[in-house]
Amino acid sequence: MCGIVGIVGKTHAEQIIINGLQRLEYRGYDSAGLFVSDEKQEHLVKSQGRIKNLQEKLTNEVNGTIGIGHTRWATHGKPSEENAHPHTSQNGQLVLVHNGVIENFAELANDYLAEENFYGQTDTEIVVNLIASFMEKESLSTKTAFQKALSVIHGSYAFALVNKEEPETIYVAKNKSPLLIGLGEGFNVIASDALAVLDQTHEFVEIADNELVTVTADGIVIEDQKGEIIQRDAYQAQLDASDIEKGTYPFYMLKEIDEQPTVMRKLTQEYRDDQGKVNIDKDLVEEVSASDRIYIVACGTSYNAGWAAKSLLETVTQIPVEVQLSSEFGYNMPLLSERPFFIFLTQSGETADSRQVLVQTNRLGFPSLTITNVAGSTLSREAKYTLLLHAGPEIAVASTKAYTAQIAMLAILAQAVGKNKNSKASTSFDAFHELSIVATAMESMVDEKDYISSLVEHYLSTTRNAFYIGRGNDYYVASEAALKLKEISYVQAEGFAAGELKHGTIALIEEATPVLGIITGQNTGAHTRGNLKEVESRGANTIVIASEELARQEDQIILPTVHPLLTSLVAVIPTQLIAYYACLQRGYDVDKPRNLAKSVTVE
Ligand code: GLU
Repeated sequence: MCGIVGIVGKTHAEQIIINGLQRLEYRGYDSAGLFVSDEKQEHLVKSQGRIKNLQEKLTNEVNGTIGIGHTRWATHGKPSEENAHPHTSQNGQLVLVHNGVIENFAELANDYLAEENFYGQTDTEIVVNLIASFMEKESLSTKTAFQKALSVIHGSYAFALVNKEEPETIYVAKNKSPLLIGLGEGFNVIASDALAVLDQTHEFVEIADNELVTVTADGIVIEDQKGEIIQRDAYQAQLDASDIEKGTYPFYMLKEIDEQPTVMRKLTQEYRDDQGKVNIDKDLVEEVSASDRIYIVACGTSYNAGWAAKSLLETVTQIPVEVQLSSEFGYNMPLLSERPFFIFLTQSGETADSRQVLVQTNRLGFPSLTITNVAGSTLSREAKYTLLLHAGPEIAVASTKAYTAQIAMLAILAQAVGKNKNSKASTSFDAFHELSIVATAMESMVDEKDYISSLVEHYLSTTRNAFYIGRGNDYYVASEAALKLKEISYVQAEGFAAGELKHGTIALIEEATPVLGIITGQNTGAHTRGNLKEVESRGANTIVIASEELARQEDQIILPTVHPLLTSLVAVIPTQLIAYYACLQRGYDVDKPRNLAKSVTVE
């Protein structure tokens, strides 16, 4: 997690860093810090908590022409000011920011720093002292010492290093964690995400794992592990700085919930050709069609999106689909089918848990596709194929539009594969037509904000726990709905297969426990209603979210009719709004829930 921004060659580096960190705050917000300097001065400022605390500490004296900054999501050492980055080597010469986890930090301290009187709680401090120690003991240059340190470090990292005696150079390197170089006129920037520095440049250069890049105001030099210089072309970021503004919305999450109908239409525009056919890489469609099993590998909300698309994919493509948690699958790979095809769902394209699976499937030679919102992201680069979600930046930590975009993208892919295989179901499934109906249905749901806010006030404003129940696709939406509620309102919520409740968990139902039933399945609706009655008789307050054709007059939320395989896309909208208002009414920060960060780049 964490966000890094750095710049060399421009006055008021501190402002550029602060602005960048603010845009990266979604990546972590335990503490933040920056180092800026020039020939005459140097300043290190750190603070606990949000970037605004850091900003408040910046007096007029704090300025420079080179600098590095960091917003932290603590992995080693508590989230205190002391543990905030940048970290300075004990000899005072080097400053380092780090995103990731150094797995062998204890061994490194033992093997190389045993004689130093080393203090510090974080893995990062070991690294900055390791580099300083190589410089001192072996009289190495900053770059060579850095290179040597990289050769003994195991783990994930994006590093930006400054030697105070060289206030014209930033040394950077990465492995698994993201980092990009942005090119400017007479200056250069580095950032964990292009979003952070779009006000400075749109021209970026990727860094590959295990490369070391020397960044100065006039240029960059990329070297591989052997010190060979690598030439790499820059690319233009397609993003616009206005995409990352909140506009008139109080929170990004509300903006992103509202954007979902537009995202559905955007996906249609992007993937539909002039004849109304699906326009995606033919080789990709062939490879999926030739597989005997699709493995969807994902985490969190993306995992829930995988489940929500499972029956749709199976029905339209006639290929069995397994949905797997990345963090489990990588270490406990089940017996695979003969011709597997892997689909990685990841909003950020940087999810470390998913990446470790992709590394393995690549090694095994299996074809893979990453479905992501971020072009050029690690999983997008490393999978054989990529499909982009075109959802625009998702800034709120709790994912909404990426979830629905992933399901819609899988619907489009399913149609292409189904048509290619001539499957019966694909002849009657027109993804683009169905998604346009979904977009309209979503619009009517996002218009229900005031009503949903009042429902939340009535049923959920003070509850400690809650349940979402459903069967089939409704169960998968229930899982996502519960996750959203947990993530931002801290209500202990569970998504449950409606029929399973009575086999144990019903013991948790107490007077006024909210149980929300999702009912869109023709053949399961009546059963879920039965299960709602069971909890009602034990004191629960029930709330029904039902599709129009299955709704009863007393149901609280009625969903417009859409294709039966796509009901999740609409049913999830009120549950996103429920989570939003439950959070708001409790007075929590909607966009930055506690303990979380977007883009989970540690395993
Ligand atoms: N492992 C480092 C720490 O705990 C970096 C964490 C991050 O990526 O923010 O300080």
